[in-house]
Amino acid sequence: MSLTFLGAAGTVTGSKYLIDLPGRRILVDAGMFQGEKEWREMNWADFPVPPSSIDEIILTHAHADHCGYLPALVRDGFKGPIWCTYGTAKLASIVLMDAGHIQEREAQYAQEGGYSKHDPALPLYTVADVEKTTPLFKVVPFDTDVDLGKGIAIRMTRAGHILGSASVTLSTPEGSVLFSGDLGRIDHPVLRPRGTPPGSPYVLIESTYGDREHPDAKGLEHEAMADAVRRTIARGGSVLIPAFAIDRTEIVLKALTELREAGRIPVDVPIYVNSPMAVAALAVYREAEGRGELRDDIQPEDFFNLPNLREITDAEDSKRLNHPDHPSIIISSSGMATGGRVLHHLEAMLPDQRNCVIFTGYQGVGTRGRSLLEGMKQMKFRGRYVPVKAEIVSDGEFSVHADASDLIDWLRDLSPQPETVFVTHGEEGSSDAFAAKIRDELHLTVVVPRYKEKVTLTPHGTWAPLSPVPGLAQEPVAEAPVPAPRPVPHPPSVLHAPSPGAKLPVRKVADTHADDMEQVEVILETAIGQVPFLPEEKQAEVSELLHELLGLVRGESPDLGAVREGVNLALYAAAGAVETPGGQSIVALLAHVPKVLG
Ligand SMILES: [Zn+2]
Repeated sequence: MSLTFLGAAGTVTGSKYLIDLPGRRILVDAGMFQGEKEWREMNWADFPVPPSSIDEIILTHAHADHCGYLPALVRDGFKGPIWCTYGTAKLASIVLMDAGHIQEREAQYAQEGGYSKHDPALPLYTVADVEKTTPLFKVVPFDTDVDLGKGIAIRMTRAGHILGSASVTLSTPEGSVLFSGDLGRIDHPVLRPRGTPPGSPYVLIESTYGDREHPDAKGLEHEAMADAVRRTIARGGSVLIPAFAIDRTEIVLKALTELREAGRIPVDVPIYVNSPMAVAALAVYREAEGRGELRDDIQPEDFFNLPNLREITDAEDSKRLNHPDHPSIIISSSGMATGGRVLHHLEAMLPDQRNCVIFTGYQGVGTRGRSLLEGMKQMKFRGRYVPVKAEIVSDGEFSVHADASDLIDWLRDLSPQPETVFVTHGEEGSSDAFAAKIRDELHLTVVVPRYKEKVTLTPHGTWAPLSPVPGLAQEPVAEAPVPAPRPVPHPPSVLHAPSPGAKLPVRKVADTHADDMEQVEVILETAIGQVPFLPEEKQAEVSELLHELLGLVRGESPDLGAVREGVNLALYAAAGAVETPGGQSIVALLAHVPKVLG
């Protein structure tokens, strides 16, 4: 058996580990390279082995640097199953759909701005490639040995990093390897804590924070953020919080709620979540409570349904946020400002010294986030420089990566102890420092592999192979994202053929209650037009809820409370299929209704 490091070696991103066995080729993670240009350009290179020769992929979690390259592999011939947990399947579908849109949009901007190297400007992959990828997800449960056939089995153990994140133990007739995935801190603010996986002779461990210890929270929690919010609001500015759409947005909302409740930031400042991906991910986290994935002491509605919280999905509303009438807090992605709507906010907000940008996590080398934290005085957006005058702040308490001591604890708990540890997923200094710490404290053989390095793994007698339960792997869970449109139980009341991802209806001047209701009616009709793009089994339920709601809205002086409740019911139903174009569109449309109603 051999292991080749095709990413996250010498860098933090692009996780891809290739296992070659006689007659079987398995890829663990398929991450996108992000950050420095020399790495990003690798995304465009031919994959080192033909994607069609890979039999299956196993995903540790849904961050783009672990799953973002999947659509490129599928486009180039990969057809096998992609094994992952339920949470990862849900979140990765959202992440990839967003990545597809971003790729397409950036190619378009580059074309319009004339700064592409390609003519015409090309996206790395398209939404259509993503739509061929998500049906390949096959869900496996946590803490269960799952048979992948021919003596190969995997076990997913909670990693406590983001929803669905797992460490993967891969057991084969040739030996066993444990992949840490990204590891969370001991106490994730929202998720159930990480577990201890079965040990293996070979262990790959991440080292994002391998050279650092998180500071012990001195004094008040998140004081850096609270203080920055207070002084920004006091000088009439607005606060921009770049945050990963997945997980970080949830944790930031929880922290803001707690700060508000403690009276440490003003209560009347509106908070906007401006990221369609974050809004979709919020729905997955809400649903996760019912699946027992959240901490027992957490009530998600306490911080996902804040008063003054507005979820922005419409691009026009998004642009309007750049010049708010009064100070506000905007949470937008991506977290390292490598793409997404946060770029438009930065472009508009950086030149005003009253504003403040608060970073909430690790900023990779070469990202805009890192440059701003390092004091860059001007920044280029869409080919044009803007001055950086806004205040730049970092709140280091949000990290969901284990620090060096956490990582050592995870290794120490493994039984049996590994023969060889491969330190990956860190910048060079960080991986080297962590490797030295492992040698010192645990006296193990430690290697910091190079990019594309290939190592031979030989069987060892000190571990027990996994003993899978037959049949579990056969359970297909992710439904096809784009079912052929079929008739809905009620005839849709729009005349035009619906298209997936339809834009929100243009808002007319609506200053009376009747006008608002008219507007809601248009939104509902558009949403009904999206029903055929839901998975078949969801169509009847969502259609019925939407038609009921439409009836209510068209009635004489409809009860606003009842309309809101109806919207919530339909929103929840559609959120269950948010990885499909229909689900995404309906969720985005319905999220608009509360704003119309004021
Ligand atoms: Zn991650």
